[in-house]
Amino acid sequence: MHIKQLLKNKKTVSFEIFPPKEEQDLAPLETTLEHLSKLSPDFISVTYGAGGTNVGRSLDVLELLNKYELNSLQHFTCIGNSVQKIEDFVSEYKKVGVKNLLLLRGDYKEGTETTGSDFKNATDLIEHFKKNHPEFCIGGACYPETHIEAISSKSDVRYLKLKQELGAEFLVSQLCFDSNNFDNFIKKIRQRGVKIPIIAGIMPVISHKGIIKMCLSNGCSIPKKLSRIIGKYENNPEDFKKAGMEYTKELITNLQKTDIAGIHLYTLNKYKDAEELIDTLEIIRNI
Ligand code: FAD
Repeated sequence: MHIKQLLKNKKTVSFEIFPPKEEQDLAPLETTLEHLSKLSPDFISVTYGAGGTNVGRSLDVLELLNKYELNSLQHFTCIGNSVQKIEDFVSEYKKVGVKNLLLLRGDYKEGTETTGSDFKNATDLIEHFKKNHPEFCIGGACYPETHIEAISSKSDVRYLKLKQELGAEFLVSQLCFDSNNFDNFIKKIRQRGVKIPIIAGIMPVISHKGIIKMCLSNGCSIPKKLSRIIGKYENNPEDFKKAGMEYTKELITNLQKTDIAGIHLYTLNKYKDAEELIDTLEIIRNI
């Protein structure tokens, strides 16, 4: 089902997974999907390998989503993709019933700063798909604390508006651990004319190293409360996780008071955190 259709009727709860490497067994991911499917997600997104690697495996994962009758959102990036390659992917995606695409520039291959394709930015892909494959429902990414390479937050919002103008029908956000920053971002982009629904991407706070790494690589801030948790429990992973999950629940609860259209949990192919958070997530479906 098209995500824009779902968003017309309700706020969504969804999860993100990534395809295991070619040589890895699919069984652990299948177990995860079996558990996640019991939480009735509105869709599951499947990432596209960073730097364009390991992309073939997403088809196996999409088949698994079909097995558990899960609605999919396939990520797709500019990296290494020509018009012909896009056509090949499109015909494969259609065979496995993909109806929604999250169109992205993509993470560059290590050591490069080019997409290696005629498509330089997500906007180029969105324009191409809208013209040639309007049958897909199209989403784009947004950055509550500004994309790390952006010239300015103003230009970042300008390009976000361009995504909407070219045909993006919803946005999924980069992780953000500060609900005030998120709220201010939404208010700012609404003022500048970005009207499409925004689904908040949430990374459960379960490992202090993971959080620091993600914040450093994406230019996201660590609020005082979270930095205190990191300082207090950095040498005690169990207590860190307990405090981190409480932090995550509070973040979700605060975000539910903002103008978001849903919550997208970065599950990192695990299911226990999603199970622990589901009661807090469920509230959004009843708003
Ligand atoms: P763009 O929208 O192209 O923006 C990139 C930069 O260029 C920004 O600084 C922006 O301000 C600027 N810009 C935007 N449009 C233009 C334009 N027309 N002209 C000039 N400058 C412009 N990466 C993967 O490799 N695989 C994934 O599956 C994946 N999934 C993701 C899911 C989400 C929800 C998010 C938030 C990110 C994901 N990423 C993924 C990471 C993403 O690829 C990187 O953040 C990448 O650096 C930017 O992608 P984008 O689509 O936001 O790029």
